[in-house]
Amino acid sequence: MKLNEHFSALSESYLFATVAQKSAAYAAAHPDKKVIKLSIGDVTLPLAPAVISAMHEAVEEMGRKETFRGYPPYEGYDFLRESIAKYYADRGVDVPVSDIFVSDGAKSDCGNLPELFGEDNVVLVPDPVYPVYVDTNLMAGRKIVYAAATKENGFLPMPDESVKADIIYICSPNNPTGAAYTKEQLQKWVDYANEREAVILYDAAYECFVQDGAARSIYEANGAEKCAIEMCSFSKTAGFTGTRCGYTVVPSALVRGGVRLRDMWFRRQSTKFNGVSYIVQRGAAAVFTEEGMKQINENLAYYRENARLIADCMDKCGIFYTGGKNSPYIWLKCPGGMKSWEFFDYLLNEIQVVGTPGSGFGENGEGFFRLTAFGDRENTKEACERLYGLLKK
Ligand code: PLP
Repeated sequence: MKLNEHFSALSESYLFATVAQKSAAYAAAHPDKKVIKLSIGDVTLPLAPAVISAMHEAVEEMGRKETFRGYPPYEGYDFLRESIAKYYADRGVDVPVSDIFVSDGAKSDCGNLPELFGEDNVVLVPDPVYPVYVDTNLMAGRKIVYAAATKENGFLPMPDESVKADIIYICSPNNPTGAAYTKEQLQKWVDYANEREAVILYDAAYECFVQDGAARSIYEANGAEKCAIEMCSFSKTAGFTGTRCGYTVVPSALVRGGVRLRDMWFRRQSTKFNGVSYIVQRGAAAVFTEEGMKQINENLAYYRENARLIADCMDKCGIFYTGGKNSPYIWLKCPGGMKSWEFFDYLLNEIQVVGTPGSGFGENGEGFFRLTAFGDRENTKEACERLYGLLKK
């Protein structure tokens, strides 16, 4: 028996698992203290009423012989795929229904899409970024090169002509920095990928947070359908973190080595994935109704206000930060030259506020820290008061 030796290249534990372990250990040792978590990017508001009533109806259908459904289609039900295509069309982006694949979330697709590519491809990943892109490619033994996202480039690295890359991950708006590319900047990435026959894996999980005219889809750039796959999710848009639903666009026009990647992805999904439940897909489709959109926008406004509170607190403390406008995350520079985990321990021990150490997102994240706006309002306010008490100049 030979195990997958590439696992030895991974860090011992997944970033958010370590954060959870450390804060749980602290809470167990100090039962009298209230720990406030502004760490993992999980939502706190319940599902929208329109989603709930659509799911109730679907449950009823599942309980009647005439309307019962068995295995769903591998690519998702047409009613949901059509709603997703319309969601794109309303923003002036043309995505054919046949190129849309419904999934159980963007994390699975981020992790599974690299199966379409050979192991000796070079993967380009921004640093810092959502750790799944790196870990999933390390597990497959691929070589990874990094595009530095720094304060100097506004946390938005641009293509480097001297770098050879076959698979390019882009996360915009970015987790953790909140930086979002404009259409013009994405055009440069698309041109770079098309010139090299590379493929872009574009993670748009936070597209609904864009407020300042930044791009919400890679397909806003010309020629993107020839080089880019886009992953998206209902998790952050509509609070589906526990319900599980996302979608990925694999354009029919994306061809490498004479093969359509859409067909490969269909082959992969129909072999290894049995679809998303009817009930969940009905709930997801309700997000796109007029009522659903209104309700989820109210929830997004609530999280934006949390972000504003945290940003204000950083302003008052004189701490450099970015994000919070096109994303639900505040990305801040640890004060006093502290390292990320040092600052994590400092906040946990002194004021029982848990955040996510920036170094867990990549080397360039060292010395930075991420706070999430997905918390409950009262807790966010209390955390801000505690932060101000500790960090004010
Ligand atoms: N992509 C990014 C950039 C994320 O930050 C997250 C979750 O935090 C995901 C994907 C996962 O999304 P899902 O819940 O749809 O799996």
